[in-house]
Amino acid sequence: MAESNALPLVVLAENFAKLPGIGMKTAQRLAYFVMSMSDAEAKAFADAIVTAHETVHECKICCNLTDKENCPICSDSRRDTSVICVVEGPKDVTAFERTKEYKGVYHVLHGLISPIDNVMPDSLRIKELLARLKDGNVKEVIMATNPTVEGEATAMYISRILKPLGVKVTRLAFGLPVGAVLEYADEVTLFKALENRNEI
Ligand SMILES: [Zn+2]
Repeated sequence: MAESNALPLVVLAENFAKLPGIGMKTAQRLAYFVMSMSDAEAKAFADAIVTAHETVHECKICCNLTDKENCPICSDSRRDTSVICVVEGPKDVTAFERTKEYKGVYHVLHGLISPIDNVMPDSLRIKELLARLKDGNVKEVIMATNPTVEGEATAMYISRILKPLGVKVTRLAFGLPVGAVLEYADEVTLFKALENRNEI
């Protein structure tokens, strides 16, 4: 933002620019937009950030974000607690819930193992996952991390810890997206699709 701009406006734009996917140009546009809000709207916007930050924390059981002690999924007695789907982040829970097919519960790792980014297993919620397996009620753990290098490494790392505990560990099947054309699929995707083929 140019030096001719008021300092609070520059600070506001710089804060918007810290958000993922927001460049400086967009940040400036957002800052100007905030200036066009009424005082009440601007206050409500700022309050929403502070309130969310103060009241939302990790669910005591699955580590998903919630404003209750336990999240709505863990509190729902209709969910099958013998199946745990392990995901990287809260947005993955939302994605699975959208399918309306999955009736088990989740465990949110809050990241993936990535030595380059200095993310080690200790900084993920792996201890919390192991604690859930102690009572022997869990029959299957589905590793549903993304099929990236970090996602695969994390899935392998956790499955190696879980297997000696006698719990069944499965990996999400990866293959061709619906509507894909074989010719344009990359070889890893095609190989995964072939490997995870189903009987028809
Ligand atoms: Zn929960």
